[in-house]
Amino acid sequence: MKRFPLNGELRSTEPEHPREECGVFATASVANVSVDIFYALRVLQHRGQESAGIAVYNHEGIKCIKGMGLAHQALKNEDIQSPKGDLGIGHVRYSTVGSSTISNAQPFVVSTNYGDIALAHNGEMVNSDKIMDELKKKGWAFITSSDSEIIVRLLANDISNTGDPVRALKNVMSTIQGAYSLAIMVDNRVFAVRDPFGFRPLCVGRTKTGYAAASESVVFDTLGGEFIRDVEPGEIVELLPGEIRSTKTGLAKGRAHCMFEWVYIARADSVIEQKLVYEVRRRIGERLAKEQPVDADVVVPIPDSGRSHAMGYAEGSGIRYSEGLMKNRYVERTFIMPDQSDRTTGVMLKLNPLKSIIKDKRVVLVDDSIVRGTTMRKIVQLVRNAGAKEVHVRVGSPPIIAPCYFGIDMKTRDQFAATGRTVKEIEKMITADSLGYISIEGLVDAIGLPAGDLCLACLTEEYPVAVPGEKVRFQKKLDSFT
Ligand code: SF4
Repeated sequence: MKRFPLNGELRSTEPEHPREECGVFATASVANVSVDIFYALRVLQHRGQESAGIAVYNHEGIKCIKGMGLAHQALKNEDIQSPKGDLGIGHVRYSTVGSSTISNAQPFVVSTNYGDIALAHNGEMVNSDKIMDELKKKGWAFITSSDSEIIVRLLANDISNTGDPVRALKNVMSTIQGAYSLAIMVDNRVFAVRDPFGFRPLCVGRTKTGYAAASESVVFDTLGGEFIRDVEPGEIVELLPGEIRSTKTGLAKGRAHCMFEWVYIARADSVIEQKLVYEVRRRIGERLAKEQPVDADVVVPIPDSGRSHAMGYAEGSGIRYSEGLMKNRYVERTFIMPDQSDRTTGVMLKLNPLKSIIKDKRVVLVDDSIVRGTTMRKIVQLVRNAGAKEVHVRVGSPPIIAPCYFGIDMKTRDQFAATGRTVKEIEKMITADSLGYISIEGLVDAIGLPAGDLCLACLTEEYPVAVPGEKVRFQKKLDSFT
C-alpha cells in the first residue's frame, strides 16, 4: 500500500533493512472466522507492525475492527470475539515512527448498492497518481491518499454498474499497474487476487473449517491447516467453505517475484513458489562463501535476519559458526533513542557482543543486506571494541542501488550505501577489514528460479513494469526510457 506522509509525520531515518509494507489474509468457513483471522495476522506480524484490522461478513453486512500497533495491541480480545461471521479478511500494515493514523489502517470498507466491500492490500501501484488525478477531475472524492483506496473505489464503481464481482475485479486489474496481492470481500463472497507479475507472495490452503488465502504459507501451519499452492500471477481465486474457484484473467505478462521476499522479508519457514525460504537463505550463504572467501576463525550472524545466511556461509567455508551477538528481543525494530546523538548506545541496546566468542578472533559478520550502511558500521565497531582482531562483512544480497516501487520501503537513491560508491568505498565507510556481496547470478541460482521470473530491479535498475524515469526490464537503451 502506498501512502504519502502526513504533515509532521516522522518516519524512521535509519532503516536497518528494507521493510515490507503489509500482509493479508482471507478465509471462507463453516464456522466463525474472526479468531482464525487474528491468529493469521499474528503469524504475518513481521510484514507490518503499525496497524491491524479484521473485517467479517454476516447477515447484517460487513463488520470491521482495526487499531494501531501489533495485532494483539490493535485488536482486543473482546473485539475479536464480537464480529461473528463465516467469511472474513485481515490486514497488517507496516511500521512507521511517530504520528501515523487509523485512517490508513485496513481493511477499507465501503458501501455500495450491491452490498458492502472490504479490501486488504499488500503491494504498491505505479499508476495510482495518474488514476487518482483522472478520477478527481471526474468529481470523485477520496478520504485517504492511499492507492488501496483507489482500488476499492474502482471496484465499488464497477460492481455497482455490472453487478458481477469477478468481472469487476478483472476490469480493475486491467486498469491498475504494479504490485498487489489482495484479500477482498464483496458482500457475501470472498476473493484473493494476485497481480499479473506476482510481485508479492499470495497462496491458498485449507483451514480446519474451510479455505483461506494468505501472504505466506506459514499461516496454514499455525492454523492447523494445509498449504495447497501459490495464487498464480493474474489469478482471481474465490474462496468458499468447501472449495476454491479460480479465474485466470489472461493479464499475466511474465513473472516478477520480489527477490527480497527470500532474502529478508518472508519468514524462513514459509514456502514461496515452491522454494522454502530458509533453504534459499542457507544456499545464499553457501554461495557467498564460495564467491567471497576469507581466512577467518568464526562466522557470526547479525541476528535475527542474518542467521540462515551465516549458517550457509559456515557450511560453505568450513569456518565455525557461533552466535557472537545477542539480541535484545524487547527493543522493537523501530526504536529511536530519545537522544539521537547517542546512536552507538542505540545499537548496544539491541545487540550485545559475546567477548568470549569474539576476542582475538578474525570474525566474519554475515547479514542479509545493507541499505544505508550506518547500522552496519556501528556493529563493526561494536565487534571491534569487543576485541575482534579482524572484522570481515559478508552480505546475502548484491548492492542495492535503485528504489523499489512495488511495496518495499526503499524509495530514494540517496539512502543507499551503494549509490555512487564502489564496494571498496563502502568497506571503508563501514570500517570493515573486508566486504563482500553475493553476485546477482549467485543470488538467482540460490533462489532456484529463472532470472526472468524474478524482480531484481533494486539491484539492476531494470523494472518489470514501466515506472516514469526508470529503465524497463530487458531494455538497455537509455534513450528509450519511459
Ligand atoms: S525492486 Fe527490489 S524490493 Fe522491490 S519488488 Fe523488486 S526486487 Fe523486490
